[in-house]
Amino acid sequence: MRIIALMNQKGGVGKTTTTVNLGAALAEAGKKVCLIDLDPQAHLTINYGIDPDPEQVSLYDVLIEDRGFLEAVMKVQENIALVPSSIDLAAAEVELVTKLGRELLLRKKIDSAKHDFDYILLDCPPSLGLLTINALAAATEVIIPMQPHFLALQGVAKLLETVQLVNRRMNPRLKVSGIVLTMFDAQTKLTQEVMKELESFIEAAQGKPLPWADAKIFDTKIRRNIKLAEAPSFGQTIIQYGTLCAGAQDYRALAAELIRMSDPTAVIRTPSQPVPAVIRPAAKIAPAAKGVVAAVTKSADAPAATKADLVAPTEQVSSPAAPGLVTANSADPSAATGKTAPIASARTAVAIPSVPSPAVAPVSSTVSAVPPRPTAPIKPVSKPVVTVKPIDPSKLAAAHPPAAVQVADSEKQPAPGDEVAA
Ligand code: ADP
Ligand code: MG
Repeated sequence: MRIIALMNQKGGVGKTTTTVNLGAALAEAGKKVCLIDLDPQAHLTINYGIDPDPEQVSLYDVLIEDRGFLEAVMKVQENIALVPSSIDLAAAEVELVTKLGRELLLRKKIDSAKHDFDYILLDCPPSLGLLTINALAAATEVIIPMQPHFLALQGVAKLLETVQLVNRRMNPRLKVSGIVLTMFDAQTKLTQEVMKELESFIEAAQGKPLPWADAKIFDTKIRRNIKLAEAPSFGQTIIQYGTLCAGAQDYRALAAELIRMSDPTAVIRTPSQPVPAVIRPAAKIAPAAKGVVAAVTKSADAPAATKADLVAPTEQVSSPAAPGLVTANSADPSAATGKTAPIASARTAVAIPSVPSPAVAPVSSTVSAVPPRPTAPIKPVSKPVVTVKPIDPSKLAAAHPPAAVQVADSEKQPAPGDEVAA
C-alpha cells in the first residue's frame, strides 16, 4: 500500500483538486483508493458532494475521540472511500498538543486498514502544523502540487525542511516522489523559468542523504482547465464531470505515471466507454466555515509546544478558497465560474444526506446527462506583477543543509508579495 501526502503549505495550489481527481483516476484504473481529508475546511469532503455532518464519524473522532479508522471510512464511489473532515478538526491542532504520541496517531490508526487499500491519499491542510505532521508520519511518500511561479519555490524549501524533520525523527521511509505542476500554462516564460530552477534544485539533491534526493518533476503537467474548477460544484470528480476533457486526461496520465513508478510493466485499465455521470446535489455550506478559518489561524499561533517540540515551522497560509466553500481562487479565472455554479444556490437547499444515496442520484448512461454548465467566458489569466529574479540554486540548497533542521527566524517571515498569484 502506498500512502501519499499531497502537501504544500500554500493554499490554492491544487492539493484538493489533485487528491480528488488523482484518486478518481487511480480508482478508474482498478486501484482501491482511500482519501483522507485533513483540512478543517473540508473541501475534499465537499468535493464529493458530502455535507460535513457532525453525526458522521470523522477524522476528528479518529484522532481525538479514539474511534476506529474504519468507522470513519465512507464508500463514496466504486473503489473510492473517504474519511471526511469536519469543522471540529480545526480544534484538533490544539487538542493534539496534549496527546501522548500526538505525531503518530494517524499512522497507528491507518495501520488497521493497510490491507484494504492500494493507495491512501492524504489531502493536507495549508499549514505545517500537527495535522500535516501526522500526515507525514503516516505517509510513505509526498507529492507536492505546485503552481509554477517564483514564490512557490520559496514555499517548497520550507516544506522540505518539515519533510526532512519527520523523516529523521519518526518516519525514515518517507520520501518525496515528486512535484506535480498544476494550473500549468506551457506558453509563459515564467513557467519555463520556474521549471528550469526547479530542475536544478532537484538535481542538486541527487545522491545526497535527503528525502527528496530521488524526487522528480512529474512528466504529466496538470493544465489549467475550467472543468476542474466546475466539477466540485456538482459533487463530481473530473472523471465523471468531463470524462474526455483535458483535466480528466491529465489526471489519468498522472495516475498512470504514479502506478508505473512502483510497477513499471503495469497495464492501466481505461474504460471502454465514458463513465456515467452521477448527478448529486452539491453539499450545503457549513455555516461555521468562517469561524473555522479563524480557529485554524489562531491554532497556528497558539500552542508554543508545537514549535518547541517539533522544531517545525508552523506558518499558516490561509487558503484563498476560504471560507469553507468550493469556490475558485479569486486570483483564478475560474472564480468567474465558481460564482455562477450551482453550489451558490445550494446555500438554501434542504440538507442532503451525509452518505450519498443512489436514490438521490439519477444515473444516466452517458455524460450527456451532465446538467447545463455555467457558460461564463474564461477571462485571460492576468499577468503576474512579480519581477522574476533567477534563483541561485545553491542558496536554496543552503537553506536546509542535511544537518540543520531548525528553521532560521528570517525564513519564518512570509515573503513580500506572497499572495501575488500567477
Ligand atoms: P488547495 O487544496 O491547494 O487549496 P484547490 O485544489 O482547492 O487548492 O484549488 C484551488 C482552486 O483552483 C480551486 O477553485 C480549484 O477548482 C482551482 N483549480 C485547481 N486546479 C485547477 C486547474 N488545473 N485548472 C483550473 N482550476 C483549477
Ligand atoms: Mg485544499
